[in-house]
Amino acid sequence: MHTYHKPLDLVRERSPERPVAFARPAAVAVAARWFQDKFEGDVFYAVKANPSPWVIKTLAANGVTSFDVASIPEIELVTTHAPGSRMAFMHPVKSRKAIATAYFEHGVKAFALDSHEELQKILEATGGARDLTLIVRLAVVAEGASYSLSGKFGVELHEAPALLLAARAATEGRMGVSFHVGSQCMRPTAYQAAMAQASRAIVRAGVMVDIVDVGGGFPSVYPGMMPPEMSDYVDSIQRGFADMMVHEETELWCEPGRALVAEASSILTKVELRKNDALYLNDGSYGNLFDAAHVKWPFPVKLYRGEGDEAHEVEGPLKPFRFYGPTCDSMDHMPGPFWLPEDIREGDYIEIGMLGAYGVAMTTRFNGYGDAETVLVEDAPMASMFGLAGRTIRLPRENQEDERKVVRLSRPKGRAGKSRRKR
Ligand SMILES: *Cc1c(COP(=O)(O)O)cnc(C)c1O
Repeated sequence: MHTYHKPLDLVRERSPERPVAFARPAAVAVAARWFQDKFEGDVFYAVKANPSPWVIKTLAANGVTSFDVASIPEIELVTTHAPGSRMAFMHPVKSRKAIATAYFEHGVKAFALDSHEELQKILEATGGARDLTLIVRLAVVAEGASYSLSGKFGVELHEAPALLLAARAATEGRMGVSFHVGSQCMRPTAYQAAMAQASRAIVRAGVMVDIVDVGGGFPSVYPGMMPPEMSDYVDSIQRGFADMMVHEETELWCEPGRALVAEASSILTKVELRKNDALYLNDGSYGNLFDAAHVKWPFPVKLYRGEGDEAHEVEGPLKPFRFYGPTCDSMDHMPGPFWLPEDIREGDYIEIGMLGAYGVAMTTRFNGYGDAETVLVEDAPMASMFGLAGRTIRLPRENQEDERKVVRLSRPKGRAGKSRRKR
């Protein structure tokens, strides 16, 4: 991948016709170090948030060597780009073939489930393996999520004790509980509340759990969504863990997706047409802007104008705009509002920030679009939970050797992926 100091340098050099994705591995490195340092347990990266090889490699080079995977292709991705990593298959519904391939070919031992039927499938597909780590996904009642993930998965709390007992009896390995408070969780206390519910289910079942997995949901910063400090989240989890009925050796796990990668990517898109407050762009909801369209999130934006050395960032009086993507589908609409200089016009470039999570991962090829080139940049993300906004963050070059240099930029403090036990 080519490296530019900042997005404007690419606009000057290339005036790109197609969307370009900017990758900031240093931002991933800093987030990875933060979680390693501050979260009192094991950090599993939820691969679905951004499966780009540069993300997987940067995480592994910065101490996050555990991955929450949901499919065989995700497992293969991790095997290729972070060989030797530990994986947990956290999708509560898997095909028998996927379970068997994960267990026998990739050495995956940890599997999530939320039903007796899935437990049976896991046992049969692994040939009655006794060394499984079985994680029961609970449906918790959580408040504060901007994007609920509770509707589809998780055993209801009144049915959980029977499933916990069955899972406990089914393995000589380890057994645990997990939940997901919902993505972009704006309330740190949601974790503590969810852990209290998990604890009640455990007590009612009368089982001991070896793992408490608090899932993902750790937030990033978007316009109009300024979450509390990330340290408030780990504090809430620590308090929740201290109150749980678990044994001395019980491990704490988390599965952040968004928080590790949201800051690390932005997209450069071109204005093809302006109609009043509507801007028609060359990227949209079938490209990198799924959440802008379907969850109607406004993302931060910057404007660049001109070609060659003339190109510059435009500031000036702002006005709210909405975006349309390039496909012929009327759902390819991002309501925003996106605040941009009022004289924005055809040929201008818009950089849309904070798209590292659930942006590139969602791209389709619909209508012949969706192909974005990725380049590396060294400027700071538009906003940051980790104090990066406004700072230059030096970048590695593309090989892994150089990627390790990122480690030295952030505090070289991380601990190895060993669980800190409950005290
Ligand atoms: C999506 C997902 C995550 C990551 O969620 P974020 O909100 O991105 O942190 C973690 N665990 C599971 C099981 C998921 O499905």
